[in-house]
Amino acid sequence: MVSSEYERRIAARFGTFDQDGNGYIDREDFNVAAKSLLAEFGTAARSDKGQALYAGAEAFWQGMAGIADRDGDQRITREEFVTGAVKRLRANPDRFAEIARPFLHAALVVADADGDGAVTVADTVRVLRVLGVPEGVAEAVAAGIDADGDGKVGEAEIVPAFARYFTVPE
Ligand code: CA
Ligand code: CA
Ligand code: CA
Repeated sequence: MVSSEYERRIAARFGTFDQDGNGYIDREDFNVAAKSLLAEFGTAARSDKGQALYAGAEAFWQGMAGIADRDGDQRITREEFVTGAVKRLRANPDRFAEIARPFLHAALVVADADGDGAVTVADTVRVLRVLGVPEGVAEAVAAGIDADGDGKVGEAEIVPAFARYFTVPE
């Protein structure tokens, strides 16, 4: 079967979640993402911001596992991701926003250097690159997330953008 654009996109989304690249998504991938973000922005894991990010990562993992880990082995395989996560999240993007929100909120706080409640597009690019979005793609994605074009990304912009990205249209 010829690989379709849809399959290519699914593979890219799976790769984003599979942070350590071992072929399945599990709790460790979410910990790796949190740890990498904290390192990038020089934030201590034991700080309030660090703890909030780890808590958000755990909630995100639990939510994803609840949706996609059909056999309950605490791993989401590529097949579980495609047949469970992507289909169900596409049917219910609000649910995805809900499970991702605590992590995204905490990530924004970590990346929000001046504490004004929003992250510059340049720092959004750093976040995306740390999470494995390729250089060159991250810039375009960040500009797209900044829906109102004011050069900053707020929670109201990032949560729906994230949900859109992962609820891959067929
Ligand atoms: Ca993994
Ligand atoms: Ca599983
Ligand atoms: Ca904006």
